[in-house]
Amino acid sequence: MRTIGLLGGMSWESTVLYYEQINQRVKAQLGGLHSAKVVLHSVDFHDIEVLQRQGDWAAAGQALAIAAQSLEAAGAEGLVICTNTMHKVVPAIEAATQLPILHIADATAAAIKAQNLQTVGLLGTQFTMAEAFYKDRLRHQHGLTVQIPTASDRAIIHRIIYDELCLGKIQPASRAAYLKIIDTLKEMGAEAIIAGCTEITLLVKPSDLDIPLFDTTALHAAAAVDWALAPSA
Ligand code: GLU
Repeated sequence: MRTIGLLGGMSWESTVLYYEQINQRVKAQLGGLHSAKVVLHSVDFHDIEVLQRQGDWAAAGQALAIAAQSLEAAGAEGLVICTNTMHKVVPAIEAATQLPILHIADATAAAIKAQNLQTVGLLGTQFTMAEAFYKDRLRHQHGLTVQIPTASDRAIIHRIIYDELCLGKIQPASRAAYLKIIDTLKEMGAEAIIAGCTEITLLVKPSDLDIPLFDTTALHAAAAVDWALAPSA
Protein backbone atom coordinates (compact mmCIF):
# COMPACT_ATOMS: atom_id res chain seq x y z
CA MET A 1 0.00 0.00 0.00
CA ARG A 2 1.29 3.47 -0.90
CA THR A 3 1.32 6.28 1.65
CA ILE A 4 -1.18 9.07 0.92
CA GLY A 5 -0.14 12.64 1.73
CA LEU A 6 -3.13 14.76 2.70
CA LEU A 7 -2.70 18.51 2.38
CA GLY A 8 -5.61 19.54 4.55
CA GLY A 9 -7.14 22.04 6.92
CA MET A 10 -8.98 23.92 4.16
CA SER A 11 -11.19 23.56 6.00
CA TRP A 12 -10.62 20.93 8.67
CA GLU A 13 -14.39 20.28 8.56
CA SER A 14 -13.85 18.51 5.23
CA THR A 15 -10.39 17.11 5.95
CA VAL A 16 -12.07 14.98 8.63
CA LEU A 17 -14.27 13.52 5.88
CA TYR A 18 -11.22 12.62 3.80
CA TYR A 19 -9.55 10.80 6.68
CA GLU A 20 -12.69 8.89 7.53
CA GLN A 21 -13.67 8.00 3.96
CA ILE A 22 -10.15 6.93 2.99
CA ASN A 23 -9.97 4.57 5.95
CA GLN A 24 -13.49 3.23 5.31
CA ARG A 25 -12.55 2.37 1.74
CA VAL A 26 -9.31 0.67 2.74
CA LYS A 27 -11.25 -1.30 5.34
CA ALA A 28 -13.89 -2.28 2.75
CA GLN A 29 -11.24 -3.41 0.29
CA LEU A 30 -8.73 -5.11 2.57
CA GLY A 31 -10.86 -6.05 5.58
CA GLY A 32 -9.71 -6.93 9.07
CA LEU A 33 -7.62 -4.36 10.85
CA HIS A 34 -6.30 -2.75 7.68
CA SER A 35 -6.23 1.03 7.60
CA ALA A 36 -4.79 3.64 5.25
CA LYS A 37 -1.18 4.77 5.37
CA VAL A 38 -1.61 8.52 5.64
CA VAL A 39 0.46 11.55 6.52
CA LEU A 40 -1.43 14.77 7.08
CA HIS A 41 -0.24 18.35 6.92
CA SER A 42 -3.11 20.51 8.15
CA VAL A 43 -2.62 24.25 7.65
CA ASP A 44 -4.22 27.12 9.58
CA PHE A 45 -7.01 28.01 7.16
CA HIS A 46 -7.19 31.55 8.58
CA ASP A 47 -3.81 32.32 6.99
CA ILE A 48 -4.76 30.80 3.64
CA GLU A 49 -8.13 32.56 3.50
CA VAL A 50 -6.47 35.94 4.09
CA LEU A 51 -4.13 35.31 1.14
CA GLN A 52 -7.06 34.21 -1.05
CA ARG A 53 -9.01 37.37 -0.19
CA GLN A 54 -5.96 39.55 -0.86
CA GLY A 55 -5.43 37.78 -4.18
CA ASP A 56 -1.92 36.80 -3.10
CA TRP A 57 -1.93 33.42 -4.82
CA ALA A 58 1.86 33.40 -5.04
CA ALA A 59 2.14 33.42 -1.25
CA ALA A 60 -0.66 30.87 -0.91
CA GLY A 61 1.06 28.63 -3.43
CA GLN A 62 4.35 29.01 -1.59
CA ALA A 63 2.72 28.04 1.71
CA LEU A 64 1.21 24.92 0.19
CA ALA A 65 4.43 24.08 -1.64
CA ILE A 66 6.29 24.08 1.69
CA ALA A 67 3.55 21.92 3.21
CA ALA A 68 3.83 19.47 0.30
CA GLN A 69 7.59 19.26 0.81
CA SER A 70 7.00 18.40 4.46
CA LEU A 71 4.64 15.60 3.40
CA GLU A 72 7.24 14.28 0.98
CA ALA A 73 9.88 14.35 3.73
CA ALA A 74 7.46 12.51 6.03
CA GLY A 75 7.12 9.63 3.58
CA ALA A 76 4.10 10.54 1.45
CA GLU A 77 4.23 8.97 -2.01
CA GLY A 78 1.37 10.95 -3.56
CA LEU A 79 -0.43 14.18 -2.77
CA VAL A 80 -4.13 14.80 -2.16
CA ILE A 81 -4.96 18.51 -1.86
CA CYS A 82 -8.13 18.42 0.24
CA THR A 83 -9.83 21.42 -1.37
CA ASN A 84 -11.02 22.22 -4.86
CA THR A 85 -10.06 25.89 -4.67
CA MET A 86 -6.42 25.40 -3.82
CA HIS A 87 -5.91 23.33 -6.95
CA LYS A 88 -5.45 26.82 -8.39
CA VAL A 89 -1.88 26.67 -7.06
CA VAL A 90 -1.06 23.18 -8.36
CA PRO A 91 1.74 24.56 -10.60
CA ALA A 92 3.56 26.01 -7.55
CA ILE A 93 3.23 22.71 -5.70
CA GLU A 94 4.35 20.67 -8.70
CA ALA A 95 7.44 22.84 -8.99
CA ALA A 96 8.36 22.20 -5.36
CA THR A 97 7.94 18.43 -5.04
CA GLN A 98 8.39 15.19 -6.93
CA LEU A 99 5.11 13.82 -5.59
CA PRO A 100 2.34 12.96 -8.06
CA ILE A 101 -0.75 15.08 -7.44
CA LEU A 102 -4.08 13.24 -7.58
CA HIS A 103 -6.19 16.05 -9.06
CA ILE A 104 -9.70 16.43 -7.63
CA ALA A 105 -11.20 17.51 -10.97
CA ASP A 106 -9.87 14.38 -12.68
CA ALA A 107 -11.43 12.08 -10.09
CA THR A 108 -14.71 13.96 -10.45
CA ALA A 109 -14.72 14.01 -14.24
CA ALA A 110 -14.04 10.26 -14.38
CA ALA A 111 -17.16 9.59 -12.30
CA ILE A 112 -19.28 11.90 -14.43
CA LYS A 113 -18.11 10.32 -17.67
CA ALA A 114 -18.70 6.83 -16.25
CA GLN A 115 -22.39 7.81 -16.07
CA ASN A 116 -22.34 9.13 -19.64
CA LEU A 117 -23.30 12.63 -18.51
CA GLN A 118 -22.21 15.66 -20.51
CA THR A 119 -23.52 18.91 -19.02
CA VAL A 120 -22.80 19.64 -15.38
CA GLY A 121 -23.55 22.56 -13.07
CA LEU A 122 -20.57 23.61 -10.97
CA LEU A 123 -20.93 24.84 -7.38
CA GLY A 124 -17.89 25.95 -5.40
CA THR A 125 -16.08 29.04 -4.22
CA GLN A 126 -15.99 32.12 -6.45
CA PHE A 127 -12.49 31.06 -7.49
CA THR A 128 -13.56 27.57 -8.51
CA MET A 129 -16.73 28.68 -10.30
CA ALA A 130 -15.47 31.78 -12.07
CA GLU A 131 -11.81 31.11 -12.87
CA ALA A 132 -10.27 28.90 -15.51
CA PHE A 133 -8.10 26.50 -13.50
CA TYR A 134 -10.96 24.14 -12.65
CA LYS A 135 -13.63 24.68 -15.32
CA ASP A 136 -11.14 24.53 -18.15
CA ARG A 137 -9.73 21.26 -16.92
CA LEU A 138 -13.25 19.79 -16.97
CA ARG A 139 -13.90 21.28 -20.40
CA HIS A 140 -10.63 20.81 -22.23
CA GLN A 141 -9.11 17.71 -20.61
CA HIS A 142 -12.39 15.86 -20.04
CA GLY A 143 -14.73 17.25 -22.71
CA LEU A 144 -17.52 18.22 -20.29
CA THR A 145 -19.91 21.13 -20.73
CA VAL A 146 -19.86 23.24 -17.56
CA GLN A 147 -22.60 25.63 -16.46
CA ILE A 148 -21.95 28.04 -13.62
CA PRO A 149 -24.42 30.07 -11.57
CA THR A 150 -25.08 33.76 -12.20
CA ALA A 151 -22.88 36.34 -10.46
CA SER A 152 -25.44 36.97 -7.71
CA ASP A 153 -25.92 33.25 -7.11
CA ARG A 154 -22.15 32.72 -7.04
CA ALA A 155 -21.91 35.33 -4.29
CA ILE A 156 -24.51 33.46 -2.21
CA ILE A 157 -22.76 30.11 -2.64
CA HIS A 158 -19.36 31.58 -1.79
CA ARG A 159 -20.60 33.40 1.31
CA ILE A 160 -22.25 30.27 2.69
CA ILE A 161 -19.05 28.25 2.19
CA TYR A 162 -16.83 30.65 4.12
CA ASP A 163 -19.27 32.05 6.70
CA GLU A 164 -21.03 28.78 7.49
CA LEU A 165 -19.76 25.47 6.10
CA CYS A 166 -16.06 26.02 6.85
CA LEU A 167 -17.17 26.91 10.40
CA GLY A 168 -19.29 23.78 10.74
CA LYS A 169 -22.62 25.67 10.59
CA ILE A 170 -25.33 23.78 8.73
CA GLN A 171 -28.44 25.94 8.21
CA PRO A 172 -31.69 24.83 6.53
CA ALA A 173 -32.15 28.27 4.92
CA SER A 174 -28.78 27.89 3.22
CA ARG A 175 -29.70 24.42 1.99
CA ALA A 176 -32.86 25.93 0.49
CA ALA A 177 -30.78 28.66 -1.19
CA TYR A 178 -28.45 26.05 -2.71
CA LEU A 179 -31.37 23.96 -3.96
CA LYS A 180 -32.93 27.03 -5.62
CA ILE A 181 -29.64 27.74 -7.41
CA ILE A 182 -29.42 24.09 -8.45
CA ASP A 183 -32.90 24.40 -9.98
CA THR A 184 -31.68 27.36 -12.05
CA LEU A 185 -28.66 25.34 -13.22
CA LYS A 186 -31.03 22.55 -14.28
CA GLU A 187 -33.00 25.10 -16.32
CA MET A 188 -29.67 26.05 -17.95
CA GLY A 189 -29.25 22.42 -19.04
CA ALA A 190 -27.31 20.82 -16.19
CA GLU A 191 -27.89 17.06 -16.08
CA ALA A 192 -25.89 16.74 -12.85
CA ILE A 193 -24.28 18.95 -10.21
CA ILE A 194 -20.67 18.99 -9.06
CA ALA A 195 -20.37 19.76 -5.34
CA GLY A 196 -17.09 21.44 -6.22
CA CYS A 197 -16.18 22.49 -2.73
CA THR A 198 -15.23 19.87 -0.22
CA GLU A 199 -17.72 21.12 2.40
CA ILE A 200 -20.86 21.31 0.22
CA THR A 201 -22.08 17.80 0.94
CA LEU A 202 -22.18 18.70 4.62
CA LEU A 203 -25.16 20.85 3.57
CA VAL A 204 -26.66 19.26 0.46
CA LYS A 205 -26.97 15.49 0.05
CA PRO A 206 -27.60 13.51 -3.14
CA SER A 207 -31.05 12.64 -1.76
CA ASP A 208 -31.97 16.38 -1.78
CA LEU A 209 -31.72 16.44 -5.61
CA ASP A 210 -33.54 14.74 -8.46
CA ILE A 211 -30.39 14.74 -10.60
CA PRO A 212 -26.98 13.25 -9.66
CA LEU A 213 -24.79 15.16 -7.22
CA PHE A 214 -21.06 14.48 -7.59
CA ASP A 215 -19.35 14.74 -4.21
CA THR A 216 -15.78 15.84 -4.93
CA THR A 217 -14.61 14.95 -1.42
CA ALA A 218 -15.85 11.36 -1.68
CA LEU A 219 -14.62 10.91 -5.25
CA HIS A 220 -11.20 12.33 -4.42
CA ALA A 221 -10.89 10.16 -1.30
CA ALA A 222 -11.89 7.07 -3.30
CA ALA A 223 -9.39 7.89 -6.05
CA ALA A 224 -6.67 8.26 -3.42
CA VAL A 225 -7.37 4.78 -2.06
CA ASP A 226 -7.52 3.23 -5.53
CA TRP A 227 -4.13 4.79 -6.26
CA ALA A 228 -2.70 3.67 -2.91
CA LEU A 229 -3.84 0.08 -3.42
CA ALA A 230 -3.04 -0.24 -7.11
CA PRO A 231 -0.30 -2.76 -7.93
CA SER A 232 3.11 -1.20 -8.50
CA ALA A 233 4.01 -0.59 -12.12
N1 GLU B 1 -12.85 23.44 0.80
C1 GLU B 1 -13.25 24.38 -0.16
C2 GLU B 1 -13.01 23.91 -1.58
O1 GLU B 1 -13.10 22.72 -1.82
C3 GLU B 1 -13.09 25.83 0.10
C4 GLU B 1 -12.02 26.25 1.04
C5 GLU B 1 -10.81 26.72 0.29
O2 GLU B 1 -10.82 27.85 -0.16
O3 GLU B 1 -9.88 25.95 0.14
O4 GLU B 1 -12.81 24.67 -2.48
